[in-house]
Amino acid sequence: MYDILIIGAGVTGCALARQLSGWEGRIAVLDRAEDVADAASKANSGIVHAGFDAKPGTKKAYYNVKGAAMYPALTKTLGVPFDPIGALVLGFSEEDRRTLQKLYGQGQQNGVPSLRIIEREEILRMEPNTNPDVVCALYAPTSAVVSPYEMTLALAYHAAQNGVEFIFDSPVTKIYEKDDTWHVETPKGVLSARAIINCAGTGAAELHNQISDQKIRIIPRRGEYYLLDHTVQCPFSRTMFQVPSKMGKGVLISPTAHGNALLGPSAEDIPDPDDTATTRAGLDFVLEKCRLTWPQVNVRSVITTFSGVRAHPDTDDFIIGPVHGAPDNAFEAIGIESPGLTAAPAVAKELAEMVAEHLKLPSARFLRSAVPLLRPFSAMTEEERAEACRKNPEYGRIVCRCEVVTEAEIRDAIRRPVGARSIDGVKRRTRAGMGRCQGGFCSPRVMEILCEELGKSPLEITKCGGESKLLVGTLNEIAKEARVDE
Ligand SMILES: Cc1cc2nc3c(=O)[nH]c(=O)nc-3n(C[C@H](O)[C@H](O)[C@H](O)COP(=O)(O)OP(=O)(O)OC[C@H]3O[C@@H](n4cnc5c(N)ncnc54)[C@H](O)[C@@H]3O)c2cc1C
Repeated sequence: MYDILIIGAGVTGCALARQLSGWEGRIAVLDRAEDVADAASKANSGIVHAGFDAKPGTKKAYYNVKGAAMYPALTKTLGVPFDPIGALVLGFSEEDRRTLQKLYGQGQQNGVPSLRIIEREEILRMEPNTNPDVVCALYAPTSAVVSPYEMTLALAYHAAQNGVEFIFDSPVTKIYEKDDTWHVETPKGVLSARAIINCAGTGAAELHNQISDQKIRIIPRRGEYYLLDHTVQCPFSRTMFQVPSKMGKGVLISPTAHGNALLGPSAEDIPDPDDTATTRAGLDFVLEKCRLTWPQVNVRSVITTFSGVRAHPDTDDFIIGPVHGAPDNAFEAIGIESPGLTAAPAVAKELAEMVAEHLKLPSARFLRSAVPLLRPFSAMTEEERAEACRKNPEYGRIVCRCEVVTEAEIRDAIRRPVGARSIDGVKRRTRAGMGRCQGGFCSPRVMEILCEELGKSPLEITKCGGESKLLVGTLNEIAKEARVDE
């Protein structure tokens, strides 16, 4: 019997778990995937939005501005890559200027600090690669970039260090309340809890509608991206937006927290929330839009394309709090599309307080400070590298040549709480496979290390859980089968 079951290990569920781990209680986070950050939380723009885009008075606006203000200190505590680079929203006509003035006004109402409308000369001085046809821009110096999957992982690590359990490969198929207890069904069995919190992203409406008489709809809205190699310098030092459309914040060009250039996203409503394909049409759309910001747009140094799916609610605002029209002790944070990454720390703080108070959990106990993440070998000085190798010879073996990731870091990523269990799990924790060759060279060695650490056969190791196995058998076995067939 749990006190609280959180469904969904994205940034919302993990931030909430970390926050709730400050109270006495047995808490678990359940996810259908094999790792945290498997959905929107791993595939987004990674922008900590300043907060001028959301309509004043909405939950999006409120949590955006509060969440953005929490990021600098929180990422420092958790050791997550975060860079307050600022952002420009470009206008190319007098009509765009009116939109930018509206965004400026919204920003003022939402309480966004230091916003300014700037003119062509200043823009070109700040960002010389900008299209010279630019007329004006909204400058938001408090906008920042963060590594979204590392943020989610760090929140999960901290929650686990404080006693939260993580249960993976467990899709929730049914939730119901009986005798003041909530029951959560998965193919592995039924879990029970005093309270549940639905943070299931694009899967949230299905669960909400099982328990509430106030039905909602969540529309999957896909966004596609180009990611360029960080060995080629990003043409811009800030996040470059264009004026937003009714489908979202529009296409951007931005350095990521790791210095790659990111171009995208598109915005397309799709029937299948799990369809994270990239398409010719989506990527062409991104390129065409980017040409307005950067006329010499060049994606020759592309290392991958990817897409993420937004959970767009038909109410057009975040839905946060007790589940209306459902029995007591059911809570939710759903319809969390952009700026959900930015908002997560603030959503988690307020919702955790609400749930803990409602359940009368014993008052806050000591929240153990986050165990610092290993300093990446790639970021060490020569002296630090030599010292690291002296202390642990596994630092002397480079596994990922593109991103300079060592065996010591990969083993640590598997051994730590909420450790990696797949090739992609290692990739998100260490960057092994994130570089130019996209894992072409290091995947076999990463697989061997996973086998050694987890006591598994290479045939059991997956790229990202489920049936995504990389190997189907040995050549000997295949030859033997062929001889039997003869
Ligand atoms: C293209 C794109 C760009 C974006 N850009 C930004 C940005 O720059 N800045 C920003 O602030 N926000 C941005 N966002 C929004 C942000 O990514 C999301 O708001 C945030 O990641 C949502 O987190 P979440 O935890 O609520 O959902 P998710 O990350 O989607 O997590 C939900 C989890 O629930 C699990 N789940 C679903 N159904 C079930 C079930 N039945 N049983 C068990 N588990 C289940 C899933 O496996 C998943 O792990 C963007 C989103 C997209 C898609």
